[in-house]
Amino acid sequence: MFSKILIANRGEIALRILRACREMGIKTVAVHSTADADAMHVRLADESVCIGPPSLAESYLNKAAILSAAMVTGAEAIHPGYGFLSENADFAELVEEHGLVFIGPSPEHIRTMGDKIQAKTTMNRFNVPLVPGSDGALKDIAAAKKVAEEISYPVLIKATAGGGGRGMKVAHTAAELEEAWQVARTEAKMAFGNDEVYMEKYLDKPRHIEIQIMADQHGNVVYLGERDCSLQRRHQKVLEEAMSPALTDEQRQSIGEIASNAMRELGYRNAGTLEFLYQDGHFCFIEMNTRLQVEHPVTEFISGVDLVTEQIRVAAGEKLSVTQADIKLQGHSIECRINAEDPDTFVPNPGKIQVFHAPGGLGVRLDSALYVGYSIPPYYDSMIAKVIVHAPDRASAIARMQRALGEMAIDGVKTTIPLQQKILADKEFQKGDYTIHWLENFIEKNKKV
Ligand code: ADP
Repeated sequence: MFSKILIANRGEIALRILRACREMGIKTVAVHSTADADAMHVRLADESVCIGPPSLAESYLNKAAILSAAMVTGAEAIHPGYGFLSENADFAELVEEHGLVFIGPSPEHIRTMGDKIQAKTTMNRFNVPLVPGSDGALKDIAAAKKVAEEISYPVLIKATAGGGGRGMKVAHTAAELEEAWQVARTEAKMAFGNDEVYMEKYLDKPRHIEIQIMADQHGNVVYLGERDCSLQRRHQKVLEEAMSPALTDEQRQSIGEIASNAMRELGYRNAGTLEFLYQDGHFCFIEMNTRLQVEHPVTEFISGVDLVTEQIRVAAGEKLSVTQADIKLQGHSIECRINAEDPDTFVPNPGKIQVFHAPGGLGVRLDSALYVGYSIPPYYDSMIAKVIVHAPDRASAIARMQRALGEMAIDGVKTTIPLQQKILADKEFQKGDYTIHWLENFIEKNKKV
């Protein structure tokens, strides 16, 4: 096992990893920008290294500075968390070249899954169901029109290098397709420096359901059930739950086996998530995330498996601590992401925390790096806390989350707690009756009254 790990991240996820290391008796090295000198992850780590000024490119995305920090402190492995360098194959490769361990999959698998067309082709090879669409990249508008007629409108143009919902455009007719083609490619070129696009059938009422898998270097792969992440605003997840209110146990097992078999065949290692759109009883693979996800705690609650500890164990060459037969999914878990934003306009609202009271009690978990007197820097993501609950069933999980959010007090910045409370109180949400479009409509509707 490692004796020292460098955590190449900040905020709640840096704390999450630090906590796992501490319980495993592993020393931690925090890295931080000058804007984060007073951050909680820096205070709690055994050692810390300032890696640059506030801008992401000069600090948390600065590969050379992070590698130097690891070498200087004698860390043996780097945990990238999520975001930042977590899905950067070049970084993973550099880490390995310097004789360190990257806590994640191989650079080759990160690279394959980072290219959406390659990811789909690979999954197709292993019998994972896909959204009907073009066979690879589209070479021109004529080819796009031909595929659209074959799969029928509406269709979606998507960027091969896509992420965060950018470079994605819907077309309902051939005329709209011409425009979508131009706009998606221009957006993709600007955002990713790559204007290659492909096409998928546009699903009008899908749910976003993702399967968590975990694999070691000895060929063992397990699936840990699914998360329903349909509640999104501008393709950003807002509230997630496990299990999905839409699936039966048979469907859960079937898609879980498809996902874990594919990962076994691929020779994948460490944590991974296969994202699907689910509509009319069918699963369609859209992409794979080759890292730990923000919403991993809901899976930890229902499975009882500590995903970060497992990531560290398998990166060190150990076997998974559980087999598929050991995993018994229990109860229901919900996560609410709390952002420092205006709950009506969603404009970020960084500032100094004047009052902070954390919720607690049975089945409540808070992942957050907040403390009274902390000044949220304006340079980074606005998510400041995740509240996660676990209860025997969905109705009691909703009641528990309402209770927990009611106890939570944050003063000094505006937060999205009021939005989460409105969602939890909604009858349709309570019935579990929603698709990926539900939240945007809900926000729109609530604006008018
Ligand atoms: P990104 O990497 O940019 O997030 P994804 O492929 O994961 O792109 O898609 C992001 C979101 O866009 C999905 O969660 C879903 O809401 C929507 N989406 C993607 N593909 C389709 C599709 N074929 N039909 C309808 N909605 C889609």
